Amino acid sequence: MPASPEALRDVAIANRILAHEGVVDSFGHVSVRHPDNPERYLLSWARAPELIEASDIVEFTLDGEGLDLGERRPYGERMIHGAIYEMRPDVGAVIHNHSYDVIPFASTGTPLRPVMHTCGVIGEHIPVWDIRDRFGECDHLVVTMDQGRDLAEGLSDRPIALMKRHGCVVVGKTLQEAVMRAVYLQVNARLQLQAMHLGTPDYLTPTEIEACTATQLSPLGLERTWEAWCRRAMP
Ligand code: MN
Repeated sequence: MPASPEALRDVAIANRILAHEGVVDSFGHVSVRHPDNPERYLLSWARAPELIEASDIVEFTLDGEGLDLGERRPYGERMIHGAIYEMRPDVGAVIHNHSYDVIPFASTGTPLRPVMHTCGVIGEHIPVWDIRDRFGECDHLVVTMDQGRDLAEGLSDRPIALMKRHGCVVVGKTLQEAVMRAVYLQVNARLQLQAMHLGTPDYLTPTEIEACTATQLSPLGLERTWEAWCRRAMP
């Protein structure tokens, strides 16, 4: 069954939001699991996120075959999405980005931890996956299901994994949740670096992370941010 116009529109909006908030540049992508078929996901063809419209969204099988792709080229790294949906039935949306604020942590391996309450959604422990460990020196792109599954294993049951010298993957139950997490991952990276310049950051405790995440991912938090980000991205 083809996805509803609303589902396609939401993926386009998520792309625009992430571009507008600086989380993605001309690279990076966001997908949602097909609302009516867990074995499929919805992702744009290989277009820059800030330009994406609902008509650009394509239905993919979990192993990366575009069903209504036509002559359009798919993203080389779409396997990231299928491999995570395959391994994580709890995941409804996947974001891959190269946020410039996050890269210093992905480069050094310095742990990224929540420095303020709205950033609790990034979780207590963010694993760092390195393509080199299994695939050696390469262009760092995740282009095979084998590589995608290795990354999904690195992510494990977490909401975020950093990708060494590359970027990160961020997941959520819903598109809104994944976007919230990706935006605040970037905010946290910026603030944590600033805090480290001044002294030793006083991080949220595991109990506080749980409480702050519940608040931030409540309808109160999700609806308020989504509405504002939509308005900013699509005036
Ligand atoms: Mn990438």
